Amino acid sequence: MVRFALFLLCAAPLFAQDRYERLMKDILIFDAHIDTPRYFLDEGYKLADEHGYYELDIPRMRKGRMGAVMFGIYAQPQDYPPHLWLPRSLEVLDALHREVKDNAAQMEFAYNAADVERIHKSGKLAAMASLEGGHLIGDSLGILRLFHTLGVRYLTLAHFATNNYADSMTGTDVHNGLSKAGRELVREMNRIGMIVDVSHISDKAVLDAVDASRSPVIASHSSVKAIAPIVRNMPDDVIQAVAKKGGVICLNFHAGYLDKAAYEVYIKNRPARDAEIKDVLALRGNDPSRWEIIRGIQRKYYREMPKVDYKVLLKHIDHIAKIAGPDHVGLGSDFDGISGMAPVGMQDVSQYPNLVKGLMEMGYSDQDIRKIMGLNLLRVLRANEEGAGK
Ligand SMILES: [Zn+2]
Repeated sequence: MVRFALFLLCAAPLFAQDRYERLMKDILIFDAHIDTPRYFLDEGYKLADEHGYYELDIPRMRKGRMGAVMFGIYAQPQDYPPHLWLPRSLEVLDALHREVKDNAAQMEFAYNAADVERIHKSGKLAAMASLEGGHLIGDSLGILRLFHTLGVRYLTLAHFATNNYADSMTGTDVHNGLSKAGRELVREMNRIGMIVDVSHISDKAVLDAVDASRSPVIASHSSVKAIAPIVRNMPDDVIQAVAKKGGVICLNFHAGYLDKAAYEVYIKNRPARDAEIKDVLALRGNDPSRWEIIRGIQRKYYREMPKVDYKVLLKHIDHIAKIAGPDHVGLGSDFDGISGMAPVGMQDVSQYPNLVKGLMEMGYSDQDIRKIMGLNLLRVLRANEEGAGK
């Protein structure tokens, strides 16, 4: 008996290793929000090369067994004058398409859920596009439809500022949620099969969007307020409302969104950090070395934040799985949009396997791990395609 117990004790890690290998063979790891494309345009960043900075390139996607990514296209309302919002978005989207074409042996642009599955099965990486902020469509449903034609598969209703469609979480409350135009926008997105993204918008706007939408919505990069009570995170009742309509909350990995103590240091330092970066941009003109100097500034302020372990991210995942169900949680790292402020153990896309191992240790089934790592997002993408045309 003692011998048998000893055998079990020794064999357990082997079983776990076998299970892990089996799972990783064909798991679809699909992240809803990664902001790399502006670096293609501004810095000549190449997906084919492995970098010691930023958080995504093809070699690191391969190491992390990543299968698909929804790239974010954006021009922050506070960074660009309104007349540049649309041209800037189109240029970044063009840079994404060109970069994917330049890596055609390894990566392919996906226009729907079936594309994602086919590309993943072929051993290539699937790239999709999304647009962050209703301000980017020039108040035009025609421009929205053209973005859809160009491959954009979700639109975040607002970014850091309130626009004509929705109140932003970090903006002023103008509409008490969604405006009439916001509700019309949601219906048109449903009709063309574009996912409604409720990250960044106020809690009331999320509830309005869920109410207005016939198809399931996503929060492409939002974390849990019950664990880290900060402005950008979602309270439980809002998470449950998204889930009830079949949607998915894709977790943001920003260390300051995962942990309140880290957030407080981040917010305290942000004005000084941004001022230093602005000075570099003003003084350095087109000097290519300016990007490395800016990364140095970001690293300096990151070091001042208390370290946040990736296990805190697992707690956020577990919380949503518990209050809303494992069908309603996914990944929306916000990599390359969080200025390097990632948790230890999840610092770039090569480290996704840590999440798989962590979920296994927490007792999640293979099927639930597959859902959380990608299939939930794929399900919502497909549901929006199926809901189109109505
Ligand atoms: Zn964002």
